[in-house]
Amino acid sequence: MNESNASNFIQNIITKDIADGAKDIHTRFPPEPNGYLHVGHAKSICLNFGLAKNNQGRCNLRFDDTNPVKEDTEYVDSIQEDVKWLGFEWDGEVHYASDYFQTFYDCAVYLIEQGLAFVCDLSAEEMREYRGTLTEPGKNSPYRDRSVEENLDLFLRMKNGEFEDGSHVLRAKIDMASPNLNMRDPVIYRIAKATHHRTGDAWCIYPMYDFAHPLSDAIEGISHSVCTLEFEDHRPLYDWFIDHLMDFAKFPSRPHQYEFTRLELSNTITSKRKLKRLVDEGVVDGWDDPRMPTISGLRRRGFTPAAIRNFCEEIGVSKSNSHVEYAMLEHCLRDDLNMNARRAMVVLDPLKITITNYPEGQVEYLDAEINPNQPELGTYKIPFSREIYIEREDFREEANKKFFRLKPGKEVRLKYAYIIQCDEVIKDEEGNVIELKCSYDPSTKSGEDNSGKKVKGTLHWVDANNCLDVQVRLLDFLLLPEQGDGDFMEYLNPESMVVLDNCKAEPVLAEAQAGDKFQFLRTGYFCVDSKYSTPGKPVFNRAASLKDSYKPE
Ligand code: ATP
Ligand code: MG
Repeated sequence: MNESNASNFIQNIITKDIADGAKDIHTRFPPEPNGYLHVGHAKSICLNFGLAKNNQGRCNLRFDDTNPVKEDTEYVDSIQEDVKWLGFEWDGEVHYASDYFQTFYDCAVYLIEQGLAFVCDLSAEEMREYRGTLTEPGKNSPYRDRSVEENLDLFLRMKNGEFEDGSHVLRAKIDMASPNLNMRDPVIYRIAKATHHRTGDAWCIYPMYDFAHPLSDAIEGISHSVCTLEFEDHRPLYDWFIDHLMDFAKFPSRPHQYEFTRLELSNTITSKRKLKRLVDEGVVDGWDDPRMPTISGLRRRGFTPAAIRNFCEEIGVSKSNSHVEYAMLEHCLRDDLNMNARRAMVVLDPLKITITNYPEGQVEYLDAEINPNQPELGTYKIPFSREIYIEREDFREEANKKFFRLKPGKEVRLKYAYIIQCDEVIKDEEGNVIELKCSYDPSTKSGEDNSGKKVKGTLHWVDANNCLDVQVRLLDFLLLPEQGDGDFMEYLNPESMVVLDNCKAEPVLAEAQAGDKFQFLRTGYFCVDSKYSTPGKPVFNRAASLKDSYKPE
């Protein structure tokens, strides 16, 4: 696998820290198990695991499972599978924030004892009113000056389930006049009488992210806690918790938070909430639908781990907001598949040709390249006989001089086979072309051609007497490029998947296995669908077209 050697500002910080004596570089990837991972998470995974790897350090996988209502073991399993598939290994066992619920609770009690936290009875709406705005300071909660004893008693009763959801919260006592809203007595515990996927009904109070996250990092000995830019304003709070709890909890490390820009990919949804709606409302065929930008969707579509890692490498890591074109992700896929995917011929929209001067009943086997970029792989045999299929769009009755494909009276080369000439066009009653009668020139066999003939067009084709009927699915963006105001579900692309049911493939494709990737000559890169394919009957998804619109700088 390709090593990440790219420098970025976080690597520069680590390099300096190592020069200053830092020994144990320890990062983590902390997903919330409330959905499947998407391409944005891949950026975070490559960064966190890459930093650990490049600095002889370690990277933890930690589930940030502090919100029992939205979380599920299905997500826990899929996330582990996706991280491994991308080619990364986490250090030791998988970690869960829920493993630390007792420590979080003890830390909260300690803050109360120090006069640094209080139980507040304001409703969520009242709390918003008291909070102030960016230009106005907040007001102290009327419950802020409760005694330590009263706070300890109330917090214990919150824990024991004596109060209803939303009736009480525990808040840190910091500064309601702070210019940073996150420091205005933030909530650190809430009541949620919900069953947790790991701790069951043991707890009915749950820590907030801003409290659980720094403590989880510190408990695990994380040195560099890398997150996305929207948490920059939370860093003072992150530090506040660590500073006030370091002596009490005897954390093995003093973690520091660093922020980088989230990946935003054009035409792509990178919000788990929205992706979940597409799944729940049946717009797509599950989280791994090949149109989904989830890691499992990209995998099913035909992406390789290397293509995704190279993409993450190319886009780099910075602090400035950056928007990346989807074409760049496709470019990385083509780069990989062009080198590594075997070639095949498949006709998506077949038009039959009878080669009138080819002997009836005869089949010959021609040599075809497995992959011209890997000549050492050699060739394989493809059948050729009197009836073949070509692509309907490769024939035109009327065409100008620039049309180098097949037209009446003209010649064209069939890839790996012969030059043919179109002699007659057969039509149905409505005037649709249903078949062509052609003749072939036996002296023009590919590789042995001594005819001296020059033709400009070369077509892919499939032997009609020795072929496989396959389904091919052409994929496009889930959302229309033009988005108005309003709900994103109003702008779904009705043609995000076009199913072609009458495609003709070379017989060798009957052996293709789920996940196998191909370049079908002249039509794109395709992958065998892992859900709908059956033995001997592959279904293909188009991973990418052949054309590359992305130009590396
Ligand atoms: P979403 O908004 O899709 O739910 P999230 O940030 O809430 O995303 P988490 O499960 O909390 O999802 O994310 C785990 C890690 O992945 C976090 O460190 C987060 O910053 C990072 N991450 C999530 N989305 C992106 C993105 N688009 N680009 C880079 N990193 C991301
Ligand atoms: Mg999150």
